Amino acid sequence: MEFSLQLNNLYCQKENHKESEIVGFCVDENCLEQNKFACLDCLFDIHQKHKLVKLKDLNDIIENRYKNYKKKNEDEKELIEVYKKNEEYQ
Ligand SMILES: [Zn+2]
Ligand SMILES: [Zn+2]
Repeated sequence: MEFSLQLNNLYCQKENHKESEIVGFCVDENCLEQNKFACLDCLFDIHQKHKLVKLKDLNDIIENRYKNYKKKNEDEKELIEVYKKNEEYQ
C-alpha cells in the first residue's frame, strides 16, 4: 500500500473524550459536526442516530476510493479532502 492514513489508534479530539478511541466515521448527510470521526461517546451524543461506518470498514472504503482516485496526484491531502467531502458515501 502506497499511502498510509493512520486510521488505527486514533483518539477523539473532543475535550471530554480525550482517551476515547475513534470507532467510526460519520457519513450522515445531515451531520453538522465538522469532526466526522466519532468515538463511542460521540456516537451516543453528537452523532446520535447518524449514519456511521465502522473505522475498519472505512479503511476498506478509502482503499477502494484511493484506487479510483489516483488520477492526478497521489498525496494524502487529496485523500483527506475526499474524506471531508463525504457526500458520495451515502
Ligand atoms: Zn468523542
Ligand atoms: Zn454525524
